[in-house]
Amino acid sequence: MLVVKVGGSKGIDYDAFVDDLASYKDFVLIHGGSHELNELSTRLGRPPRFVTSISGQTSRYTDLETLELFNMIYAGKMNKMLVEKFQQKGINAVGLSGLDGRLAEGRQKEALKIVEDGKKKILRGDHSGTIERINVQLLHLLLENGYTPVLTPPAISFEGTAINIDGDRFAAQVAVALGAETLIILSNVPGLLRDIEDPASLVQKISRDEVELSMNQFAKGRMKKKLMGAGEALAGGVRRVVLGSATGPSPVTRALQGEGTVIE
Ligand code: ADP
Repeated sequence: MLVVKVGGSKGIDYDAFVDDLASYKDFVLIHGGSHELNELSTRLGRPPRFVTSISGQTSRYTDLETLELFNMIYAGKMNKMLVEKFQQKGINAVGLSGLDGRLAEGRQKEALKIVEDGKKKILRGDHSGTIERINVQLLHLLLENGYTPVLTPPAISFEGTAINIDGDRFAAQVAVALGAETLIILSNVPGLLRDIEDPASLVQKISRDEVELSMNQFAKGRMKKKLMGAGEALAGGVRRVVLGSATGPSPVTRALQGEGTVIE
């Protein structure tokens, strides 16, 4: 069983990705949609707002209007685009968000404690949170009957409302719940870079104990979440996490061959 996360950042070649992944048959996919959502919200005159928490994590401020657009892009456009591409390759994909069948359940954050212009602030009205439970029974139900789950944020809160959650950590939790040996996280960079401007500065290997250090040393913004997800996956029994690129041909095969940042 292979668990793969493909990001939603600019430059990802989804045709090449689906072409490659479809040849593996037995997999679960989790996807993102950040770039498309940024474009749509900007076009609608509601440019995205990214906030930085006191602990230094960046996230999208997700008020109810943003959540509507979030569903349109993630659970709509991106999810159905991928399901359609897999169907064309003979994979019987079923697209689900974390809301459906309470697939990914979690706790909604109360209020965001953020830093803006050097000042600490409390921000309310954010609908985001952290996954605490995966409905693994639902995944087995699909897998055992020949369906391939194609999963996307949002998740569902314990109260039954949609919450924005991090896709990389979603993928990590799915990999743990399914007892997957390998988790592949693909985005638009070759992996963790020492210098984000220099693709040749790739960190090729990180041991389990070095995840936190690498996160603090090199990772900025969204890359932090990938390392956090990798750490959670390893802690939950996944043997190997590979952070790789999905901008070229055969991205899954290349990641499985160790191209990218291998964390084990
Ligand atoms: P996706 O949506 O594809 O999952 P993200 O945009 O969330 O991808 O995360 C990948 C981004 O992380 C890169 O495009 C890059 O801008 C950023 N990043 C920050 N720090 C690093 C780093 N040290 N190495 C690589 N990428 C980094």
